[in-house]
Amino acid sequence: MLRSDSEELVRKVMARFVDKELIPKAREIDETARFPMEMFKQIGKMGVYGIRYPREKGGAGGNTTLYCIICEELARGLMSVAAITAMQCLMGTNFLFHFGNEELHERYFYPAIRGEKVACFCLTEPEAGSDLGNVSTKAIKTEEGYIIEGMKTWVTNGPVADFYTVLCQTDPAKKLKGLNFFFVPADTPGVKVSKPFDLLGTRTTM
Ligand SMILES: Cc1cc2nc3c(=O)[nH]c(=O)nc-3n(C[C@H](O)[C@H](O)[C@H](O)COP(=O)(O)OP(=O)(O)OC[C@H]3O[C@@H](n4cnc5c(N)ncnc54)[C@H](O)[C@@H]3O)c2cc1C
Repeated sequence: MLRSDSEELVRKVMARFVDKELIPKAREIDETARFPMEMFKQIGKMGVYGIRYPREKGGAGGNTTLYCIICEELARGLMSVAAITAMQCLMGTNFLFHFGNEELHERYFYPAIRGEKVACFCLTEPEAGSDLGNVSTKAIKTEEGYIIEGMKTWVTNGPVADFYTVLCQTDPAKKLKGLNFFFVPADTPGVKVSKPFDLLGTRTTM
């Protein structure tokens, strides 16, 4: 298949990074099974996390094909670094980008695409995986805002994230139509993170 110049260029830059920087450290990162913060920041400095976002919002003005090429190359080096990057480029920042106001963008979105803040996305629950209609985390409206009650699991980047996009039920009678996303900074009172999981494969992501 013929590729555009930008696709070839991104592939070349990422391939060089993976060969020189990631592969030599891959075993150590995998064995320690800790979030590779230094590598995360290094990838952020390359402008990778903003690849799909417009230039006027601090992104690279690229597209989903370029994002896929980046993840394909990173996965060649270490799958968990590809998973961390996918979360940061896509679901972790996507809702914040589309629905966050300028204040939230200043505090969270721009730092996230620079690799200074870690993003994640929380759908899955102990009793609700594929069946999202079964999500039981509740967002209860009060005069001061919303109170969120519930538990999420299997959250890529979760243990180290600075903010979460959380799927909650706001009105059980409405079933799927009652589901809404909430933006939750990690320092919100009441947020608790459990011990990291011991995984096979993507060992550094949660
Ligand atoms: C490495 C990793 C990273 C992840 N990262 C995230 C994350 O960042 N955020 C997040 O929210 N979640 C994350 N997940 C969770 C993932 O999205 C869930 O594992 C997935 O939604 C499946 O849910 P489950 O494991 O509960 O399986 P289940 O939903 O219990 O499904 C088990 C099996 O039953 C099948 N099945 C289920 N329902 C039906 C049905 N109605 N009809 C037919 N077949 C059915 C499924 O296809 C599957 O084969 C992650 C998981 C992994 C392994």
